[in-house]
Amino acid sequence: MSIHESLFERAVNVIPGGVNSPVRAFGSVGGTPLYVKSGKGSKIQSSDGRELTDFCCSWGAMILGHANEEVTEVISEQAALGTSFGINTEKEVVFAEKLCSLVPFMDSVRLVNSGTEAVMTAIRIARGVTGRRRLLKFDGCYHGHSDSVLVSAGSGLLTGGNLTSRGIPRQIASDTFVAPYNDISAVSEIVHEKGHEIAAILVEPVAGNMGLIMPDANYLAKLRHLADCCGALLIFDEVIDGFRFDLSAYASIIGVKPDLITLGKVIGGGMPLAAVGGKDVFMRELAPNGLIYQAGTLSGNPLAVSAGMKVLEILERDNPYPHLAACGDRLSSIINAGAEKKGAQLRCAQYRGVFTLFCSDKSVQNLADARECDTKAFARLFHRMLEQGYYLSPSQFEVGFVSAVHTMAQIESFANAVVDACE
Ligand SMILES: *Cc1c(COP(=O)(O)O)cnc(C)c1O
Repeated sequence: MSIHESLFERAVNVIPGGVNSPVRAFGSVGGTPLYVKSGKGSKIQSSDGRELTDFCCSWGAMILGHANEEVTEVISEQAALGTSFGINTEKEVVFAEKLCSLVPFMDSVRLVNSGTEAVMTAIRIARGVTGRRRLLKFDGCYHGHSDSVLVSAGSGLLTGGNLTSRGIPRQIASDTFVAPYNDISAVSEIVHEKGHEIAAILVEPVAGNMGLIMPDANYLAKLRHLADCCGALLIFDEVIDGFRFDLSAYASIIGVKPDLITLGKVIGGGMPLAAVGGKDVFMRELAPNGLIYQAGTLSGNPLAVSAGMKVLEILERDNPYPHLAACGDRLSSIINAGAEKKGAQLRCAQYRGVFTLFCSDKSVQNLADARECDTKAFARLFHRMLEQGYYLSPSQFEVGFVSAVHTMAQIESFANAVVDACE
């Protein structure tokens, strides 16, 4: 039995399904999930002593690679000074100022511990300020595991969606409308019929949880317009997108201003840290000023904030974004040219270093397209890559991440290996 198998066997006895987050379970690719001992730069060491090039990068959080020395140093320094007080610190003020200066439409920001919490709070703000109950989200977008957002498309656009988890009251599903991503006419229809009941339109501006799917031209501007038409707030869930493509939100890149924005992953530098921010007219309704309650024992703790601040400083100083984009472009052009030449069913969707290897011969625009991919072929590709020392996110419906410390040579080797392995 391998070390992974024996660890997993022990894990399933004491952890439900053996994992602390279902996406780690290899459910859709099969086999025994990996155990990691350590990471450095673009590489992770597995518990059985292998060295793998990591393209999961903690689901995008490790934009600087693993165990960046400067980040490690500030974490150690802060650990020696105390990790959490439940009392204010100067560091959280400085970090909030930094975030607000880098995301121009964000007047103020509340720090939380996870993306789930950030979105949950954004939804509560939207409901609190509008006095409305219902939400409009998009099929295949993921917004954490709070009740209102674990809803997928139902039988009709106007009937609300289907719950994707047990343990959530049925009424919650009928409060969440679900439209296909990139289909503005579906949104128009819902807004036309039910707009007066909708508290918020919630979207991942670049969708990263059904594989990588880019918004159509003007799609997000049209969502902005439709939200304004019905008096709903527009929430951009940028837990993946924020600071991933540029030193700001994706909203800044395309020039569409949401009312509220959620950030996570990159801004925490691998620590539990996320944020919800936006226009002051809405944010000031949060307690203690306003009547919308939200709180957290560890929120904005100095350990997480120190790591996050250092990451932002390094991103600003070193500007790795052109490198991420160049690596991403090289990756997708090698894979797409190679797959086409072989006649293989594979398309690499890619934007500024975030990518998905879709086992499909057509371009993927929404969840229905993504579902048509050959997930068995993806599972085979995943395992072939793992054998050759590359760790991909273990599902067809996830994205891979290039970090600032992946080299162009590594990207080229990986891309050529994918071309060799694809069917
Ligand atoms: C990861 C993610 C979340 C949830 O964040 P957690 O920190 O895992 O709770 C929410 N929204 C999006 C878009 C995400 O990718």
